[in-house]
Amino acid sequence: MPMSLIDADRLWTRLLALAEIGATPAGGVNRQALSDGEIAAWRRVIAWAQEAGMTAATDAAGNLFLTLAGRDRTAPPLLIGSHLDSQPTGGQFDGAAGVMAALEAAVSLGGRGEIPARDIIVVAWMNEEGSRFAPGMMGSEAFTGQRSIESIRGARDADGISVGDALDRLHAAFPDLPHKPLGFPASAYLELHIEQGPLLEAANRVIGVVTGIQGKKTYQVIVEGAEGHAGTLAQAERRDALASFARMASALHAEIGTVDLDIKFTIGRVIVEPNAPSVVPSRVTFSIDLRHPDNAVLDAAGARVATLCESHAAPCAVTVKPLVDAPSNEFDPHLRERIAQAARAQDFSAMPILSAAGHDARHLAKVCPSAMIFIPCRDGVSHVEHEWAEPAHVAAGAAVLARVMTEIVF
Ligand SMILES: [Zn+2]
Repeated sequence: MPMSLIDADRLWTRLLALAEIGATPAGGVNRQALSDGEIAAWRRVIAWAQEAGMTAATDAAGNLFLTLAGRDRTAPPLLIGSHLDSQPTGGQFDGAAGVMAALEAAVSLGGRGEIPARDIIVVAWMNEEGSRFAPGMMGSEAFTGQRSIESIRGARDADGISVGDALDRLHAAFPDLPHKPLGFPASAYLELHIEQGPLLEAANRVIGVVTGIQGKKTYQVIVEGAEGHAGTLAQAERRDALASFARMASALHAEIGTVDLDIKFTIGRVIVEPNAPSVVPSRVTFSIDLRHPDNAVLDAAGARVATLCESHAAPCAVTVKPLVDAPSNEFDPHLRERIAQAARAQDFSAMPILSAAGHDARHLAKVCPSAMIFIPCRDGVSHVEHEWAEPAHVAAGAAVLARVMTEIVF
C-alpha cells in the first residue's frame, strides 16, 4: 500500500475554494439546499471529478453522485460522502469536509491508475441541514425509502417555494446529468464529518470512530388562545397563548430537561402571533428537539411531551404534532474496526465516540453497512461562521477514509 493515499494540500486548497461559494463576511458559509449557491458548488465539484475521469449523475431527490468506475460495473458500489448545504450562518467544514475528503480519496486512487473492483461513488446528499426546507436529510431519506419523493417535493421554504420546484430548477441547471434510480443498491457507506462537539479536542485525539448516533424526536406545538386589547381585556377573561406557552416551557424544561445527564431538551423556535406589544397573543407555535442515546429513556421522555403541554394549556387549547422520530442507531462493527485499524496504521490517535448530532449516515445504516469518521473542530463548535478544523486533522480524516475505502473495494 502506498504511503500517502491522498494529496493533503489539494484537499485543503479545494475545501477553501468551495467555501468561497456562499461565503459570509464573518468567514462562514451560507449555502442553502437547492439554492444558486448549491448549484455553483455542484459545478465546482463536478468539474474536479470530471477532470479526474469520474462521471457525474443525480437522482429524483437531487442527490449528487460522482463515480469512479470499477472493474465490475454491476457490483453494488461503495458510497462515500456527506452534504454540500449549510446553515444560514454555517461554517466551511460541516458537510463540505466529508464530500471533499471523499472526492480526494477517489481522485487520488484514480490518479494512481488503480481501478477498484467495484464503482466508488462520492455522494452529496440533498438538504441535510433542513434550514431552508424542514426537516433535513431529505436526500438520504428519499434514497433509503424513509420518505416518499412526493412528500419531499411538497415541503416549502419560508418564501413558499416548494422542494419540487427547487429540484426541477436544479435538474434544469444540469440538463446533461443522467438520473440514477432512487435508492440503487450500495455495498457500504462511509462518511467523514467534523465532530461538532468537544470530546476529541478534550481527549487530544485526531480520529473519532463513531459508534452510533443518539436518538432524536422533534415536535411542533401550537397553543391557541384569543386576541384581545392589552388595555381593556380583563386578566380573568384572557386566553393568552404566550402565558400558557411560558407555563408549558417551564414544566417541560423542569420535567424532561432534567431526566438525566445525557438528555438534550431544546425549545429553539417560538413564533408569537400577532406579536404586537399591545395585543394579547392569540397563538404560539413552538418547536421541541429532544435527544438521548438510550432509546428507552428517549421514548419515555417523548411520551410525556403531550401530557405536560396539555396539563399547562388552560385556558388555551394545544396540539402537539410529532415530526421526527429517529431512534439511536449503532454503526457497522466491522467498518468501525477497519476505521480504528486504519487510524492505528497511520499513527493517528483515535477513540470511539457517539455522535450527538444527526447525519445522513443514520439513514444509510438502514440499507447497507455504514460508518462514520469524526475529526475535531475547534472548541467543539459548529453551525457557526467561525467553525474551524485544522488542516492536519482534515488530512488525517481523509487519509483514514481513503485507507478504509481502498481496503474494501479491492
Ligand atoms: Zn453536517
